Amino acid sequence: MAQSLVGAGFAVKGKFTVGSQRVQVVVDLPLFGAFTYLSHFDVIPGQRVTVPFGKRQLCGVAVTGIPPEGLSDSQLKTIDQVFDGLPPLPADFLALTEFAAAYYHYPLGPTLFTALPTGLREARDITPVDERPFGLSELGQASQPPARQRARLALWQALCDGPLTQAQARLVTPQAGKILADWLAEGLVLRVTAEKPALQLGSAPQLNADQQAALDALLAQPGGFQPWLLHGITGSGKTEVYLQRIAHSLAAGQQVLVLVPEINLTPQLVERFIQRFPATRIAVQHSQLAEGERLRNWLDAWQGRADIVIGTRLSVFTPMPRLGLIVVDEEHDGSFKQQDGLRYHARDLAIWRAHRAGLPIILGSATPSLETVANVEAGRYRQLKLSQRAHGAARLPQVRLVDTRRAKLTEGLSDPVIKALAARLERREMSLVFINRRGFAPVLACSDCGWTSGCPRCSTRLVLHLLERKLRCHHCGWEEAVPHACPECGAPDIKPLGEGTQRLESALGRLFPTARILRIDRDTTQRKQAWEEIYRQVHAGEVDMLVGTQMLAKGHDFGTLSLVTVLNADGGLYSADYRASERLFAQLTQVAGRAGRADAPGEVLVQTQWPDHPLYQALVAHDFDGFAASLLQERRQAAFPPSVHQALLRADATELAQATAFLTQIRSQVQNLAAGVLISGPAPALMVRLANRERAQLVLECANRQQLHQFLDQLPPLLDQLARQYGRGLRWSLDVDPQEM
Ligand SMILES: [Zn+2]
Ligand SMILES: [Zn+2]
Repeated sequence: MAQSLVGAGFAVKGKFTVGSQRVQVVVDLPLFGAFTYLSHFDVIPGQRVTVPFGKRQLCGVAVTGIPPEGLSDSQLKTIDQVFDGLPPLPADFLALTEFAAAYYHYPLGPTLFTALPTGLREARDITPVDERPFGLSELGQASQPPARQRARLALWQALCDGPLTQAQARLVTPQAGKILADWLAEGLVLRVTAEKPALQLGSAPQLNADQQAALDALLAQPGGFQPWLLHGITGSGKTEVYLQRIAHSLAAGQQVLVLVPEINLTPQLVERFIQRFPATRIAVQHSQLAEGERLRNWLDAWQGRADIVIGTRLSVFTPMPRLGLIVVDEEHDGSFKQQDGLRYHARDLAIWRAHRAGLPIILGSATPSLETVANVEAGRYRQLKLSQRAHGAARLPQVRLVDTRRAKLTEGLSDPVIKALAARLERREMSLVFINRRGFAPVLACSDCGWTSGCPRCSTRLVLHLLERKLRCHHCGWEEAVPHACPECGAPDIKPLGEGTQRLESALGRLFPTARILRIDRDTTQRKQAWEEIYRQVHAGEVDMLVGTQMLAKGHDFGTLSLVTVLNADGGLYSADYRASERLFAQLTQVAGRAGRADAPGEVLVQTQWPDHPLYQALVAHDFDGFAASLLQERRQAAFPPSVHQALLRADATELAQATAFLTQIRSQVQNLAAGVLISGPAPALMVRLANRERAQLVLECANRQQLHQFLDQLPPLLDQLARQYGRGLRWSLDVDPQEM
C-alpha cells in the first residue's frame, strides 16, 4: 500500500516516481480516443485517477495504449490524483470494454464508465470495508476480562466463544464499534481471516432422462471455450440443469456468472439459488439495486468473495478472477440488448468473454434466437435438447386456433373463448388472458384474400400513416398512397392489423362480473414488491383471471393455470419489423407454456384471422425447429440477419427533414468507401417522433462482418464533422446488430 503524501495544498496519493511518465487516460465524455497526461506517479492501466479536463476535474481511468508522438511535456496536463484504495481494474475487464467499444463503435471512455458501478465512476477513492471478523489476540486471551463496564464484559465473553463480525458484535452491544476499535489499538483483538466455508448443496430433485443426458454432456466437455445451446421446451427444467452444472464449477473453486432477462430476475429465482448453495456468497446485479449495494456486490465478485453473480445485462462486465462458467438464461430475450448509449448485446459480449477466457458458456431457451440456431447449424455451438417436461405427469398444452373471420365476436371475444373462460370460472380454475399490445406499427391487410401491404423494393411491410394517407417503408424509404380497395382481389375491406386491443380488458369485467380479475402490465408492476403481492394473491387462490401483456409471457410459474387465451396476436405476423414473427412465436410459446405446468392438462386458445399461417401451425404442433428453419430460409432469401450483418445509422433532430438531410449528405460522402456494404435509406424510423424529436435512419448491410466493421470504423469522425455543420440540434448514433428497426 502506498503512503500518503501531502502536495501543494491537496492530498495526493500514489507511488511517487522521479521524473514523469506519460499515461493514456479515458474520461466519461462522448469523445473518441484516449487523452495523454503526464504523471509524477507510477500509473498502471486500470487505475482510477483524477485529471484536469478543460476547466473541470474529472474521474478518469488509465488505459493501455501508446501515447502519440510529437507532443512536448509543456502541451500536456498532469494527473492530479491516483486512487489506490482498490487495485487497478483487471486486464480482462479492460479487454472486454475495449472490445465492446470497438465492436459497437462507441467511445472507449463512456463504454468503460458504463461497465463500472456508479460508485467507481466518481472522482473519489473507494476503500473497501474490512469485513474480516474480530477475534481475541494472544495478548487478549492472556488478559483479564474488563471488569467495570457491562457492555465491555458481554462483548469480551462473546469473543471468548469465537470470532465475531462487526454486525454480530453490534448485536451484543450497540457500542461494539467503538469498543472493538479501542481493543484493536491496544492489541487485545485482531482481524481473523475466516476460512472460506466448504461448498454446501441443498437438496436437488432427481433429473429426468433428458436433463441427465444434458448434464452428462456438459460435464464430459474437456474444458476450454465451448458454447452450448440448452434448448428445452417450456417447463422442461433448464434451471435445474444449470444448478447441477454450476455445483461442479463451485466444487472446483470457480466462479459462475448467470445472466437473466430483467423480468426474470425475481426473488423466487434468487431464493432458489440460495437454497441450493446455502454457504455460497451470491452477488445480485441489476440496475434497480441501491448504489451502495451494487458497488459492494461488484467488489465481492471482483475480489473473489462472491462465487456466483446473477444479474441482468449489465453484469456481463463484472470482473471475476476465477470465472469458470457463464450461463445466459432465455438467451433470445430482447432485454439483453441495450437500446441507448452503448448499444451492446450482453449475450454476444458473454460469448466473446467466454471465448477469450477459454470457458464453457450455456445459452438456454425454449425458443432460441435465429442467430443462435444458425450458429448451431454451422457447427459453432453444440445443442442439447430437453423435450419432455420436468414433472412426470405434466404434458405440453393443447393449442387450438379460433378463426375470427367466421366466429361471432362479443366485444372482441369469440364464443369458444368465452365458453372456455366460463367453464374455468365455474371449476374455480385460474385462466390467463394474454393481450398482445406491443407497439407494432400498423400494416394494412385484406381480410378476404390475405393480401398485406409489402414494399416493392425490399422484403418488408409498408406501414400505414393514417394522417397523411400514406404507406411507407421504414427500411428503404419507399412511399405510396393508401389504396381504396385490395390491390389483389378488389375487396373494399382492408384494415390495419392488430386493432382494438384496448377495450378487451374492461369487456372481460362486463362478461364475467363475478370473476376476480388481476391485471399485470408495466403500470401494475412498477411498485416495489408488486410481484410478491401478485404471487401471494395467485398462490392464495384469490385470482380467477390474470389479464396482461407481454410481461406475463416470461418464466413465471403461476401454478394451476389450466387455460391460456391469446387475443390479437396477428399484428406480429405481418409487421414492418422483420423480427416481429420471431418474437411473436417466442412470446406465444412462452405464454402457452404457462398452461398445464403442474398436473392439470392445459389448454391454449388463440384467436386469429390467419389460422393457416405457418407460425400458428407450428405453434399448434409445438414445432419450433420447423418454424425456425422456415424463418431462416426466409431471412436468407430476403438477405436479412443472420444471413447478413446489419448496422443502423440513426439521426434525430427537431424536424425529420433535418435528420433526413444529414443522412442523405453523409450517404453521398461515404458511398465510395462502402465497398461491399449495401446502404438503404434514409427512411423515417418506425417510431418517427420520440420525446419531441424526429428520427430517421440508414440501414447498412454486408454479408461479411469484418467488411462491415471496416466501413463503420471510418464513420464516426466523418459523422462528427458533418454534425458540427448542423449544430447542436442534430444527434447521430450507430446501432450494431440492431434488434429494433
Ligand atoms: Zn384482397
Ligand atoms: Zn422498402
